[in-house]
Amino acid sequence: MENNTVGKILFTREQIEKRAEEIGAQIAKDYEGEEVYLVGTLRGAVMWMADMMKNITNDAEIDFIVASSYGSASTTSGVVKIKKDLDGDIYGKNVIIIEDIVDTGTTLKFLKEHLADRNPKSIKICTLLDKPSRRLVDVKADYVGFEVENLFVIGYGLDYDQKYRNLPYISYLEG
Ligand code: 5GP
Repeated sequence: MENNTVGKILFTREQIEKRAEEIGAQIAKDYEGEEVYLVGTLRGAVMWMADMMKNITNDAEIDFIVASSYGSASTTSGVVKIKKDLDGDIYGKNVIIIEDIVDTGTTLKFLKEHLADRNPKSIKICTLLDKPSRRLVDVKADYVGFEVENLFVIGYGLDYDQKYRNLPYISYLEG
């Protein structure tokens, strides 16, 4: 990815916001009468977390976690570390992990197990993007914004070397 340039727009802000409305309505239905505990994964899920929060009408708490499996480049190390843990207690709660992208699945599987140890009532996963062709470990998101092919996507929270997170749409790197 040496001469990287921003590719075409894959998903516009309007498409993403519409999808957040649809998934939010589905979550409100699935958890009717229950509270949810939304766990956003920083920094990539920040825009998607904000979209989901606006569309989940249940009583909700929000919290953030920072896990890293990538260095500053675009290849995975396969090792996941928690760099910032949750502030709140999830015991007995309906946790929904709000993720930016599921690629190999390594990060999500680790996160799910890490949080399951604290005995929440339930854990589900809501990801903006899913790259199923890259999956190395067995983990599945319960709510998926969009599937993408094997491209290095950027924008709407997703970075390349900490850049492009503020693009209000999803694109990919060419180069
Ligand atoms: P996994 O553990 O599933 O391989 O990777 C998850 C993390 O890797 C994501 O949360 C994201 O930070 C990063 N990642 C994976 N694929 C991409 C991609 O196409 N673009 C960007 N910007 N980050 C990615």
